[in-house]
Amino acid sequence: MNAHRIVVLGGGESGVGSAVLAKLKGFDVFLSDKSEIKPQYKEYLDRYEIEWEEKCHTKSLIVNANEIIKSPGIPDKAPLIVKLKQLGVPVISEIEFAGRYTNAKMICITGSNGKTTTTMLVYHILKNAGLNVGLAGNVGQSFAYQVATQSFDYYVLELSSFQQDGMSEFKADIAILLNITPDHLDRYDYQFQKYIDSKFRITQNQKEGDAFIYWENDPVIKLELEKRNIQSTLYPFALERTEKTAAFIEKDELIIRTIKTLLTMPTAELALQGMHNTYNSMAAGLTASIMNVRKESIRQSLQDFQGVEHRLEYVATVKNITFINDSKATNVNSCWYALQSMKSPVVLILGGTDKGNDYTEIEELVSTKVKGFVFLGVDNAPLHEFFDCKLKPCVDVTTMEDAVNAAYNMADAGDTVLLSPCCASFDLFANYEDRGKQFKVNVRRL
Ligand code: ADP
Repeated sequence: MNAHRIVVLGGGESGVGSAVLAKLKGFDVFLSDKSEIKPQYKEYLDRYEIEWEEKCHTKSLIVNANEIIKSPGIPDKAPLIVKLKQLGVPVISEIEFAGRYTNAKMICITGSNGKTTTTMLVYHILKNAGLNVGLAGNVGQSFAYQVATQSFDYYVLELSSFQQDGMSEFKADIAILLNITPDHLDRYDYQFQKYIDSKFRITQNQKEGDAFIYWENDPVIKLELEKRNIQSTLYPFALERTEKTAAFIEKDELIIRTIKTLLTMPTAELALQGMHNTYNSMAAGLTASIMNVRKESIRQSLQDFQGVEHRLEYVATVKNITFINDSKATNVNSCWYALQSMKSPVVLILGGTDKGNDYTEIEELVSTKVKGFVFLGVDNAPLHEFFDCKLKPCVDVTTMEDAVNAAYNMADAGDTVLLSPCCASFDLFANYEDRGKQFKVNVRRL
């Protein structure tokens, strides 16, 4: 009989990591990518003597797999995946696969917004506390590659819904669900419930001794919890306390309250400011408390965290105008939180690839906080359609240099120029990082 054959579809970070792990575990491994594989990944594949192909999927080499590890970027509707499912070949995710080969405790973070920030913050707290902890998921080196080459006691994993879709046996010891708002619906047959179900996979297989941390006032999560019988211990967080709330704000103090601990600290001392970041700090602080990290250490880390690039990142102050880079705000909800946290009049730079946005969500904040717009996109028509009636100054641009200059001209001393685009960046930039970097470069040239 042939050895157990693992075929990895997708030759990016997670796919190559999975292939390396599978190879080291002695499987017959083949990796196939319909596009070109980056040179550094080819190097890894060759170094570990893994067979691979690019720019095609050779069916005969794929359908004979015992198991398929699919990259999160490949939709379930892709013809090859449909075919494999028809043939009964199990299709799993990198997380499911790598989870089989580590006994480390898993701290998993998901939600529609705030995943990366919270993941980095949890990692920062645990690392500062001296724990042997790895960071993976959507950030940095793949989970599978780290499982193959490291031996951590804990992993902090950022999970997107696509990664969660291919999880069946995997279990989070501590699961964090920050919020749920509609996103990526094109991958979920435009059915919000399917996306919700995907997000809730973070709780699957959890038992009483495990922890589920979530935003208590999220209407979607609330409704869902009524329908589900979650086995793990619940740790809800919210701005206002109810009987069960495990982290909340009282008299400008952040309070974390579990059976084992009571931690308080002034909200003014939190490194991450803004309401959304208060939620992220609560979730991260709760995680560390559950893990018995010393209170003083948690407070210190919540205080000295440096923040994450492109997420409400302070860039510079020029002639008393503050410039903030929130390029990662690729949907309307995250722009809402950015605007909500602004304390001075705002010149808002927004636009890009619109995923069918409904700007109603930010309408009220725009009317109270935004003094003018810079529309930065190839097609600004949807923005004009919604915002023109607001009768605020508005400039159309197609380069970041023009955007920064136009915003600078529109702003007065004491104002804030905020890049929080509500949209993806692919019409004019390589990705949101490129957009944010170009913003910073042009601000620093002013
Ligand atoms: P993700 O990894 O889920 O995309 P990030 O941490 O990268 O989240 O933040 C993306 C955007 O969402 C940022 O622009 C930020 O302002 C906003 N954001 C961060 N945390 C939250 C939260 N808890 N709720 C809503 N929006 C948030």
